[in-house]
Amino acid sequence: MQELNSLLLKLGEMEGTVIALKEQLRTVPYRLAKEISDEGERLEAARYLYWYTDIPASAIAEALLNMKSKGNAANGFLRRIGPLETDVVCERCGNPIVCEKRDEFRELERGTRSSGMLNSHIFQWDGENRQQKLCTECMEVSWKEQSAKRATRGNNW
Ligand SMILES: [Zn+2]
Repeated sequence: MQELNSLLLKLGEMEGTVIALKEQLRTVPYRLAKEISDEGERLEAARYLYWYTDIPASAIAEALLNMKSKGNAANGFLRRIGPLETDVVCERCGNPIVCEKRDEFRELERGTRSSGMLNSHIFQWDGENRQQKLCTECMEVSWKEQSAKRATRGNNW
């Protein structure tokens, strides 16, 4: 019981540390903004933080790009950040897969399709235990093929 209590206490402390670290992470864009005055370099830093960390986009936008996170600020932010050409190659055409948003990129890195993801790059074939990583264009082509297959199956009743 004693051991369990001290273990729980330790876990509690660790959770506290994680929260504190996350809070510190939020301050990173502000600290970078103090260091960097050049607009272009600020944009580079914002791009990096957006794609490769989980620092909230609103903090990045406000600190480094002087953007207020109100209304549809996300769209303006993403326009300035621009898409990311990943190192992941499309399994259909061989071109690098381009992501428009961080969650697309995270999903692609995990390699498993999350349900309800808009603009996913992971294609799940009907009735097959097969997923493919595809670029936006090949996603569309594959969706069309898949629905054509569904239609033919429908006729075979
Ligand atoms: Zn492709």
